[in-house]
Amino acid sequence: MTAFTTDLYLDGAWVRGGAGTFTTLNPATGEPLAEVASAGRADVDRAVAAATRALRGDWAATPPSRKGALLHRLADLAERDADRLAWLESLEMGAPAGIAQGLFMPNLIASLRYYAGWADKINGDQLSTDGYFGRATHSYTRREPVGVIAAIIPWNSPLMILGWKLAPALAAGNTVIVKPAEDASLAILHLAKLVAEAGFPPGVVQVLPGIGSVTGEALSVHPGVHKVSFTGSPETGRRILRNSAGSFKRTTLELGGKSPQIVFADADVAAAVQGVATGIFTNQGQVCAAGSRIFVQRTVLDDVLGGLEEAAVAQVLGDPFDPATTMGPLINANQRERVLGYIHKGQEEGAKLVVGGGKPDGPGFFVRPTVFAGTNDFTIAREEIFGPVATVIPFDDDAEAIALANDNDYGLAATVWTRDVGRAHGVSAALQAGAVGVNGWSPLAPQLPWGGLKASGIGRELGYEGILADTEAKTVTIVL
Ligand code: NAP
Ligand code: MG
Repeated sequence: MTAFTTDLYLDGAWVRGGAGTFTTLNPATGEPLAEVASAGRADVDRAVAAATRALRGDWAATPPSRKGALLHRLADLAERDADRLAWLESLEMGAPAGIAQGLFMPNLIASLRYYAGWADKINGDQLSTDGYFGRATHSYTRREPVGVIAAIIPWNSPLMILGWKLAPALAAGNTVIVKPAEDASLAILHLAKLVAEAGFPPGVVQVLPGIGSVTGEALSVHPGVHKVSFTGSPETGRRILRNSAGSFKRTTLELGGKSPQIVFADADVAAAVQGVATGIFTNQGQVCAAGSRIFVQRTVLDDVLGGLEEAAVAQVLGDPFDPATTMGPLINANQRERVLGYIHKGQEEGAKLVVGGGKPDGPGFFVRPTVFAGTNDFTIAREEIFGPVATVIPFDDDAEAIALANDNDYGLAATVWTRDVGRAHGVSAALQAGAVGVNGWSPLAPQLPWGGLKASGIGRELGYEGILADTEAKTVTIVL
């Protein structure tokens, strides 16, 4: 039995939670992994008090360059423990080891280092005005921390998404209370150990595992929390927005999508097929940017359908730690039932099953990679499935592709496959999405702002946008 870190990290100490424990499972086997301490309301109150003390005290007194050095130190420690962190992520949420090691860990470390660099470069502006009743003025803005930020994290790539929230918040001088997802707390709790080792003052970063409707809810209604940064479902996002209204909290909400991938006949079709398959099968389709609606120009429809079928058949489902595995399990039994329900609904509504469908025999929450041919009106083409299920939809010209892609409640990401540079820019401009990739699915880097339109949420993370979102502008005018 491996020892896991399972306590709350509260005000610089490891404590049991006041709300008992919850069990976390290994999704590849369905077996229990660990009992994790659950934070209750009183724990949230204590954490907010500690975060407030640190915000006004030790963290405010920490010089910007020292904040940057601490973020670099945390990145160093995450690099040192990268194998352990990636192992914990694969174990608790089923990501193939190659993805946890090759994508999620490097992304976390890159975010920490990128924002370490911003810590001593956050500046306001000097502003010119007509003066004040005939007197000259000197006006400027200061960018000040928003305050205590609650980071509510989903299970689908916990360390990477934590990095997007934690790193800019700390660089900008905020203090952060992290609420990991019930299904994936262990890797984040190990990172909390590294936070302690790095030497952040107590209360600057705290980690409160717990139940969404208890711990998450208490954070989103707490008047001492100034901002909630959330990634997850639209339902929970709406609830957080409503709860935030009480004390006018700032919110950043990243709520997933139903992202289009548009393959034009002039594209490198073989490369497009590979990219499209990556975009829907990576992490078993449990990716907010999953490209689940595949629009294909009719003249290459058969080539793309054939290629996707081959790509689905080539997927190897199994133990996330087996190097041959390309797809692990879904996160839990509920999600598997939800995804299987959508596959059933697709068949019921008359979409053509090209490949996959159903689940393999044996333990674990696996679902086969699945491709449908259909239209944009099927439920499977309208709602976020959060599983390895794609719908391929034909189109004839650019205008139709754009109209179909935009005809959805969500607007997170989009991918365009074309060799025509004018078409690449034109279609990118016309798409209702927070981010567009051309000839590559969902390019991600700490420098690139990330977030969605419409039901995909509010606000942006990453890049300098991430700093702006975690600071308030204060205007100061000196009448000379
Ligand atoms: P969820 O309910 O939105 O959970 C996300 C996070 O919010 C978890 O930490 C969760 O805690 C917490 N939470 C739940 N209820 C809360 C509340 N009332 N107040 C504050 N925080 C709360 O998502 P889910 O139930 O895990 O997954 C459902 C669907 O959401 C998926 O099928 C998928 O469509 C979508 N999803 C999207 C993303 C994305 O990247 N945008 C990520 C995950 C899921 P608990 O873990 O304790 O519930
Ligand atoms: Mg939920």
